[in-house]
Amino acid sequence: MPRPRPASAPADDLQRRLRTAYPDAQCALDHADPFQLVVATILSAQCTDARVNLTTPAFFARFPDAASLAAARQEEVEALIRSTGFFHNKAKNLLGLGQALMARHAGAVPSDPAALAALPGVGQKTANVVLANAFGVPALAVDTHIFRVARRLGLSKAPTPEKVEADLCRIFPRGDWIELHHQLIFHGRRVCDARRPDCAVCPLLNLCPTGLGTIKDPHLGLRFQAPDTGPAVRTVSRGLPQGGPQRIVSLVPSVTELLVQWGLAARLVGRTRYCIEPKWIRTTVPMVGGTKDPDLDRIRDLAPDLVILEKDENPQSAAEALTALGIPWLALEIRTLKAAAAELRRLGDALGVPEAGEARAASLESRLKGRRRKGPRALALIWKAPWMSAGPDTYLGDLLRQSGFTPIGPDGYPTLEDADLAALAPQAILLPTEPFRFNHRHAADLQRRFPEAAVHLVDGQALTWYLSRTEEGLDLLQGLRKSS
Ligand code: SF4
Repeated sequence: MPRPRPASAPADDLQRRLRTAYPDAQCALDHADPFQLVVATILSAQCTDARVNLTTPAFFARFPDAASLAAARQEEVEALIRSTGFFHNKAKNLLGLGQALMARHAGAVPSDPAALAALPGVGQKTANVVLANAFGVPALAVDTHIFRVARRLGLSKAPTPEKVEADLCRIFPRGDWIELHHQLIFHGRRVCDARRPDCAVCPLLNLCPTGLGTIKDPHLGLRFQAPDTGPAVRTVSRGLPQGGPQRIVSLVPSVTELLVQWGLAARLVGRTRYCIEPKWIRTTVPMVGGTKDPDLDRIRDLAPDLVILEKDENPQSAAEALTALGIPWLALEIRTLKAAAAELRRLGDALGVPEAGEARAASLESRLKGRRRKGPRALALIWKAPWMSAGPDTYLGDLLRQSGFTPIGPDGYPTLEDADLAALAPQAILLPTEPFRFNHRHAADLQRRFPEAAVHLVDGQALTWYLSRTEEGLDLLQGLRKSS
């Protein structure tokens, strides 16, 4: 399971996850120019963006610019915007807006923050929305969604939107404010609902003190229980692009988890017994045997339109049997982090979610630039009796390399004698908690035998679950490297 973090979510990790989850985040109000955006934003107060988008085509056909709006009759404006609610006040503000734009700005919407905020019906929040979306000026308008999500994530404890905005602007780089504004709104709408947040499928869960039950929900005043079973699968597919295979069997545990992270859980019709994360997948997606011995009859009965495999994880015979059954399959090959980035793109394309693949791949690649290639000689053991290690040419070997260690031992996954271990003279020994369940006793034993080496018992999923946890693995090993 992902490890809980303290009260305030680390900004870069949070942003990385939001980018992956909402590559399509953008202004939801339809507009063609700054004038239309100001009008739409005024109409969106206490109203959904979808409702506003239904209203504005007729409105802009009648009032295409400030001049026509300045000359309008209030009753006519009210009739056109009635469905957005509070239409009397909104109509008054829109008339005042048209007149002020004509009187002070020759009919154009100003890009100066103070001049914009001084227009009737605009104010600071609307000004920020317009500045960001019409003029590209970094701004982080805090609406009801951002206010709720930011406080739930522990990014701010402030009691007002203005103070939450100030906190967020302190935490996040100015250049990211516009993107973050849209991502947090999307997150609030799609997952972190005001009354029923879907914490079980939330990509921010292990960064969120509210979702983990560490603090009371500042919005509802309740303490949540950290979810270990999920809601109905249907809840995770909202807002996703259509297209790509719709009945997927995953024979790769970390890819199963990745599909859930990408919001594709509703398309999963089968998984292996080792596909156990997130936990609720165990009760919602049927099992089709193991990674090495998949149940091909069961897979055939599920009539998948794609089976996903990985070359080291699954046997070649499984792919051959699928071919014989006429079932389409995709085999990934991930032995380096560079390959992981390439496979993220390939998988995103194959599943009809290329933006998700690209965002995750680009984010991973940005972490690989300029890394140190030399460091302590590190041996990653993956089994005991007999000893087995993950060699320099494996995914784990490259994870070590990219984190500043020098992976040692023979290539592949060789068995080793005690004498081999001694001859390798490791300066660091990694004991992942899976596939073998290394524990503190094993670590203490090895430490006695290699007093000069740093022996680390580490989270096996972070180190071996490629794609879904590659960033987590880098965080873990880079942390160890820094402290060594
Ligand atoms: S874990 Fe729950 S409360 Fe936290 S951001 Fe996600 S949905 Fe919202």
